[in-house]
Amino acid sequence: MPIQLVFATNNKHKLEEVSAKLGGKIDLLTLNAIGCTEDIEETGATFSENASIKSRYIYGKYGLNCFGDDSGLEVEALNNEPGVYSARYAGEHGNHRANNYKLLENLAGIRNRRARFVTIISLMWEGNEYFFEGSVEGTIREALSGKEGFGYDPLFQPDGFDVTFAEMSLEEKNKLSHRGKAVEKLAEFLKTAIA
Ligand code: IMP
Repeated sequence: MPIQLVFATNNKHKLEEVSAKLGGKIDLLTLNAIGCTEDIEETGATFSENASIKSRYIYGKYGLNCFGDDSGLEVEALNNEPGVYSARYAGEHGNHRANNYKLLENLAGIRNRRARFVTIISLMWEGNEYFFEGSVEGTIREALSGKEGFGYDPLFQPDGFDVTFAEMSLEEKNKLSHRGKAVEKLAEFLKTAIA
């Protein structure tokens, strides 16, 4: 019997990415699947705090092993903005197009285009909390390029490549990405924990 684990999200895109990495031994449940319909507000000042808010909420209320994640883009020349505000950089939550244009505007005339994507996962497992981190370094392009992915993918060019994340297949991106790396660490932990 696969072990049940809640992923504190309803984002199908993320669920697919993570399921692919965790394999068949874990039955991943979304928030909808456990009947959690309330909005868990991300009020933290850091990725870790936001990830923790989600996993602790579910573990506290439902008593189920659970993990939550929080990710974002940190741009060196902008004091690591947009950071925890990545999803709502231009105001409205999840307006990726507006966020990308705001980023280009704020970087206009700035030569330092260094940036990184960061993911922190907080796992509540049998009453203890564990953190897993992943990041990917790169640069912000002068213009959008590519149609794959989401968020800032059309502007982010990972180091060692001459294409943006939005010009890569999901499979290619997953091998390199912040979320992919953090999930791999989570998967390693779970392999041992359920062995
Ligand atoms: P979340 O915490 O994973 O939902 O990410 C918050 C925000 O960070 C997203 O809405 C995007 O703006 C940005 N972001 C996180 N991961 C990625 C990614 O892989 N590509 C592009 N943007 C991302």
